[in-house]
Amino acid sequence: MTIDFSRDWLIIIPPDITQAEKAAGDLSRCIGLLAALNGGEAKPPKIVNAFDSMLSKTAPAIVLNCDKSDFRRNGFAWRAKPEQVEIFGESSRGLCNGIYSFLAATGISWPEPEQEKLPGSGAGLACDNVSEPSHFDEKTPLASPWRRFVPEDNNGVKRMLNKSKSEAFAAWAARNRYDALVIPMAEFVSAGQKLKQLEKFARDYGITLEAGGYDLSSLIPRKTFLLHRDYFRMEDGKRKKDHHFCPTNPGALKLAGKEAEKLFRAAIEAKVFHLWPDKGAETAWCSCPTCRAFTTQEQNRMGVNAAADILAVLKADAMITFYENSGEGEKIPMRKNTFKMEKLP
Ligand SMILES: [Zn+2]
Repeated sequence: MTIDFSRDWLIIIPPDITQAEKAAGDLSRCIGLLAALNGGEAKPPKIVNAFDSMLSKTAPAIVLNCDKSDFRRNGFAWRAKPEQVEIFGESSRGLCNGIYSFLAATGISWPEPEQEKLPGSGAGLACDNVSEPSHFDEKTPLASPWRRFVPEDNNGVKRMLNKSKSEAFAAWAARNRYDALVIPMAEFVSAGQKLKQLEKFARDYGITLEAGGYDLSSLIPRKTFLLHRDYFRMEDGKRKKDHHFCPTNPGALKLAGKEAEKLFRAAIEAKVFHLWPDKGAETAWCSCPTCRAFTTQEQNRMGVNAAADILAVLKADAMITFYENSGEGEKIPMRKNTFKMEKLP
């Protein structure tokens, strides 16, 4: 289906759409750009309040709507007709996702921050309706299908936290429908001001900051290797500095707890901490005489539990997610404040 955006469109918004306000402005700007593609002038549609819209019934309109519920309900639905587009969000956060899902169907994309790709002239909508419910469950909120952005490496972290770029980064994340940005825990210790700024821009779209990532190894700082080789994992009879640690060594567990406390305190406002094993080396655990009795999943569980005990004391309502793709760790029960992820971003 093609929609003629060069007509006098209106965007009708309900009151109080805090987390979708910026997205509604962006929608208007993008519709203006689409109108100009086909030779017209760039006319961003007027944004009018739902109460005032009765005056202009004849104009084609994009009608936005949302429920006033928990922003963790990120689901949405939209459908388009030549004269009317309706976009609904389960919350204003869901509405933000719905707006960008609709814009994606028009062919606009944002491959990188500060980059915008417009479709060719005459391009139609890729589809005329999309529905993505959140399946949000109060009891296990982490089970909702959230899209989490995890930086690839240190450069990726720098790009998020760069003072002059963090606003563009938050916009890029919203346009690509990320619900949360995952920041390594060490940044909460060292980059406080920059993080606050990123958080402020992300909040405009209802995007949450979560701490951690592939961060389980950070509980034993690698510099400890010089003094305490026995804290590190054994492979073929030798202690190895790369990947994870020896989770049955009492000294290693004590240090992991201390380090976890430092990191949790620094990121005290975060509600969700991710302690995933090293990417691509998930099974690189310890084969020392004591650890040998445990599978790699069980060792992973012991490491995560050590941190979960500390978090339970510091912050009763926060959770740790861990990674496991099979049930082989079942012999070691997990703490109540942990949540298993079977797929990682
Ligand atoms: Zn060991």
